[in-house]
Amino acid sequence: MNFNTELLHGSAVSHYSQKEILPPISQVSAFKYDSMEELEKVFAHKAMGYAYTRIGNPTLTAFENRMKSLECGANAVSCSSGMSAITLSLLALCNSGDEIIVGKGLYGGTINLFHDLEKFGIHTVFANDMTAEGIKPLISDKTRAIFGELISNPALNILDVRGVAKAANEAGVPLIVDSTTATPFIARPIELGANIVIHSTSKYINGGGNSIGGIIIDGGNFAWDFDKHTSISEFRKYGKMAFSIRLRTDIWENFGCCMSPVNAFLNYIGLDTLGLRMERICANADALAHALNEIDGIEVNYLSLPHHKFHGYFESMLNGLGGGILTFRAGSKGKAFRIINSLKCAMIASNIGDLRTLVIHPASTLYAHTPKEEMEAAGVYDDTIRVSVGIEDVNDLINDFKTAIQESKGE
Ligand SMILES: *Cc1c(COP(=O)(O)O)cnc(C)c1O
Repeated sequence: MNFNTELLHGSAVSHYSQKEILPPISQVSAFKYDSMEELEKVFAHKAMGYAYTRIGNPTLTAFENRMKSLECGANAVSCSSGMSAITLSLLALCNSGDEIIVGKGLYGGTINLFHDLEKFGIHTVFANDMTAEGIKPLISDKTRAIFGELISNPALNILDVRGVAKAANEAGVPLIVDSTTATPFIARPIELGANIVIHSTSKYINGGGNSIGGIIIDGGNFAWDFDKHTSISEFRKYGKMAFSIRLRTDIWENFGCCMSPVNAFLNYIGLDTLGLRMERICANADALAHALNEIDGIEVNYLSLPHHKFHGYFESMLNGLGGGILTFRAGSKGKAFRIINSLKCAMIASNIGDLRTLVIHPASTLYAHTPKEEMEAAGVYDDTIRVSVGIEDVNDLINDFKTAIQESKGE
């Protein structure tokens, strides 16, 4: 099946107990059993069944199964947010004293998390280039994971998944890819060799801007060396599934960052239109980027523009789809604010992946607590405007931005 058909009719779109077309929302805390013996078996993982929503719920399972299938993974665990998904995946792999190698120009919240993890003894090493050559010299015997964003938000740096996965795996290290901005519509990192995929489902997966969530998908394709990956060595009997079994039955359960059943349902129905939305969003972003780039003095950062430094990957890895984020520089913070304030269609909001076009001045918001050097490595300057392009009629968007830029001139 092709992507849009698989979304609606793939094997992960299961049949539910009362033949519902969509999974029922199991909005409960706990599940009732006829005997203590049955519940004992469920707790001992000797029988299938749900006990308590923090450790499993059928609406969560329905959403997880679809994400697992779309990303070609072997297991998926949903979380309360994208940040909890990133946190838990790293905590499942790292002990105090371990290192992670990460890309530059990442989402501000993730950069801040790396600072937090330092206090727990987990050290971050920043790679200038997320290529095999860029990461190889940084790998040490303490490296437990390599983490990067496929299309970084908002720098739009690209992670060379094939090259980095190969080099990392040869050195006995798994590659974790945050694919939030790409979505499986644009690329499937596990197919390209990545080992673990993460999404902030709050963005394009949900698509309607109505719930915070995250998910971790294990490719089940990494040969763990349990003498090195001691954080999961208790789970060695699960072989290639050791990471996700530890995650689900240990770290995820105990940290208590589960997704709510209602949010799982909203994400589930969001997936129905993922292909349609991404097609429109990518086409709109491409047209808007070209239109704004033609304005004197405006240089747009968007992957489909021929001058973009990652244009090669745009064609070879992203199937000619650039996603929904673009940025441009206004000249000064004051000008950036004036442009943003005079937009009529685009809303000022700190989110991406909505149906509605959203704009923000990242330096004064998302990166307000990030050191300047790391902020600029993320492609964010004092005059940068980030646009998350929506599904509106593109001519209205182009007019909205052109007028706002025109009005801010000469002031
Ligand atoms: C938004 C975002 C996150 C964090 O996700 P939340 O759901 O807000 O916790 C992580 N990575 C990227 C690339 C994001 O855009």
